Amino acid sequence: MEKNCIYLDNNATTKVDPQVLEAMLPFLTDYYGNPSSMHSFGGQLAKDVRIAREQVAAILGAEASEIIFTSCGSEGDNAAIRAALLAQPEKRHIITTQVEHPAVLNVCKQLETQGYQVTYLSVDGRGQLDLNELEASLTGNTALVTVMYANNETGVIFPIEEIGARVKEYGALFHVDAVQAVGKIPLNLQTSTIDMLTMSGHKIHAPKGIGALYVRRGVRFRPFLIGGHQERGRRAGTENVPGIVALGKAAELELLHLDETTTRERKLRDRLETALLKQIPDCEVNGDTTQRLPNTTNIGFKYIEGEAILLSLNKYGICASSGSACTSGSLEPSHVLRAMGLPYTTLHGSIRFSLCRYTTEAEIEQVIAVMPEIITRLRALSPFKNDDAGWLQQQSQLTHH
Ligand code: PLP
Repeated sequence: MEKNCIYLDNNATTKVDPQVLEAMLPFLTDYYGNPSSMHSFGGQLAKDVRIAREQVAAILGAEASEIIFTSCGSEGDNAAIRAALLAQPEKRHIITTQVEHPAVLNVCKQLETQGYQVTYLSVDGRGQLDLNELEASLTGNTALVTVMYANNETGVIFPIEEIGARVKEYGALFHVDAVQAVGKIPLNLQTSTIDMLTMSGHKIHAPKGIGALYVRRGVRFRPFLIGGHQERGRRAGTENVPGIVALGKAAELELLHLDETTTRERKLRDRLETALLKQIPDCEVNGDTTQRLPNTTNIGFKYIEGEAILLSLNKYGICASSGSACTSGSLEPSHVLRAMGLPYTTLHGSIRFSLCRYTTEAEIEQVIAVMPEIITRLRALSPFKNDDAGWLQQQSQLTHH
């Protein structure tokens, strides 16, 4: 197994911070009790769970009682959407966006088959929403508006409070998928319009298998997972104490280093982006560069396949990602980039680089050193270099749309 690489795929998942690992390990070895037990061996862990809840609340600017531990971001999204609908059975309309993560989009699609009406708001070429479209879609029948804070593929940040202000005028609940925003943007839910917010541990240097859902005090919440009375009856299942402790520690570290990390990541990301745009012809940044996560850049390289770029980068031990998913033998371009209406010439050749606090200058320089050669070589192999019409025709034969 490969161990060392230049890891620029931190929006997919992150490395566990050594301090996080150290904090959680005793709960896998010595302190393995069940915090709901009557005996003190288990019961003593309730204190550690409480501390972690406070640490998670702190990074969100929330109260500890407003935090429910979950298993991941997908669970948080599912739980929030279902809870909002169960709490308002008379309302049958949901508003979301075309660029959400599948953890929201696929729940909405299923709800449509169950009689709900769903509005999927469009985005413009920069990946931004039109708030007039939101206003025109809101009605008294709207139960929920569920919108992501920042996009996982482009890093584009939505104007959450402006959206929330409109949502509140119509009395709907407001859920925000902040899986990509937590730890990258300062948050203060006490002064926010957000009713529910999802976060995930493995995006902030905690392990996979732990997440949290914020539910504003006073918001009616019906549990998604039903069973025991853990999490004050809001999420059944024996607490994942090592994961919870890890999430608490990870949140504490993110908050502690937030300013320093974002400044550093932005500088390195901008260095990478500027150098690539300068050295490589026919490429451009996808998405709004003014409202964007500091760690993310998504660049479209014309006339080549993103997968070919990824494979070449992989040979140099560089991990990045492309928006496309290889489904049933055809390369479907990312739904996010498609919703943005990107031209077909760049749609298939888009690469996301996502940094973290461990990314070094030397790693960025290494990527800058190899990318021009990779792109030149792949373009030389492409029969359609500089031929928009030919490329377009080939792509339409390869894909379903
Ligand atoms: N929402 C967004 C915006 C994400 O980027 C992800 C993961 O990539 C999720 C939800 C799902 O989170 P998890 O992998 O913890 O289920």
